[in-house]
Amino acid sequence: MTTPHIIHTAPHSRVSTLFLSPADVAALVGRQGIAATLQGLAAYIRQDFLRWKSFDKAPRVASHSPDGVIELMPIADANTYTFKYVNGHPRNTARGLSTVMAFGVLADVSTGVPLLLSELTLTTALRTAATSVVAARALARPNSRVMALIGNGAQSEFQALAFHHLLDIEEIRLFDIDPAATAKLMRNLQANPDTAGLRLIACSSGRDAVRGADIVTTITADKTNAAIITTDMLESGMHINGVGGDCPGKTEIHADVLRAAKVFVEFEPQTRIEGDLQHLPADFGVTELWQVLAGHTPGRDHADQVTLFDSVGFALEDFSALRYLYDHAQQLGLGAPLPLMAPLSDPKDLYQLIRPVALTQGASSAIEFA
Ligand code: NAD
Repeated sequence: MTTPHIIHTAPHSRVSTLFLSPADVAALVGRQGIAATLQGLAAYIRQDFLRWKSFDKAPRVASHSPDGVIELMPIADANTYTFKYVNGHPRNTARGLSTVMAFGVLADVSTGVPLLLSELTLTTALRTAATSVVAARALARPNSRVMALIGNGAQSEFQALAFHHLLDIEEIRLFDIDPAATAKLMRNLQANPDTAGLRLIACSSGRDAVRGADIVTTITADKTNAAIITTDMLESGMHINGVGGDCPGKTEIHADVLRAAKVFVEFEPQTRIEGDLQHLPADFGVTELWQVLAGHTPGRDHADQVTLFDSVGFALEDFSALRYLYDHAQQLGLGAPLPLMAPLSDPKDLYQLIRPVALTQGASSAIEFA
């Protein structure tokens, strides 16, 4: 079998796609610092939530299987289109694979040119933590200092860092059914000089972890309808940041907790399918977060109210994250050009890519067969 080699000759249509690998995104975080990166992402996310009506939105398209889900998350405004490919396979870690893996594209709406292809696994953890903080800033009591963090897997460090750096959380009470996960989280955060002022307490149960917490973050992975938070664990004024329940049949919070709380969501049509909200009837009232951010409706009504952000992860957050990566990678000179689209001397002549050299002598573009 022969392998075609494209011979590039000018003039060609210009299609320039930037590729960001996990190492590039890690370098971006390293150059800017984790606190500044999370702060920047939170600002982009908030900015895009405030432009809610500019977006063409739809619930993500999910393909379910017994072990997990693979999802496509498209969204666009008048100028920019993005999508993310992401999976959720809670049993993957036992096979040495991540539960959540992702990549995504940012494209120019006016031409359809893909401008950026990026890793989004690390980025998803960063953007999810930044989104949690955007919500908690609007919904939690402003003097919140103690957070429970239940589920100490891949996402957990990012939640801890975001709440510590951006919301002044001083104590985090940890619980995971896997003590090795909690030990890993403690090791990672204790090795970080930035978090020297953060108290970490390993707890013996979820109930122990939430005792006295101002904010409760649940970020577990299990393909089941779990009841990690029940009404007897609620305390006056608590804010619950429910992140792990994000798929039909995969929830974390007892339905009575939602009934006892004021519930906020990203994009209601998607959360009704995927969130902890799936257990409640279609007329159960919820508020979309953008309404609070825009000042159209209050967040918590009083200091004693329990608030719950039923987060599932919405395409808008990845739109913001891809926009952030594209802007900052270019400023920092990170990434590499990706020859994803062929340069064509005549855009109507796609056949030139496979035309045998013998037939194209004298043409401005040709293929060489090895
Ligand atoms: P992970 O598999 O790396 O970690 C999950 C942890 O949860 C594991 O350590 C596991 O032992 C623990 N766990 C499972 N059941 C538990 C229970 N009953 N009590 C306490 N701990 C329990 O997964 P991850 O990448 O950290 O993702 C965590 C969850 O967050 C997943 O469900 C994922 O789908 C979800 N997620 C949501 C968003 C969003 O935007 N809402 C974004 C990313 C990930």
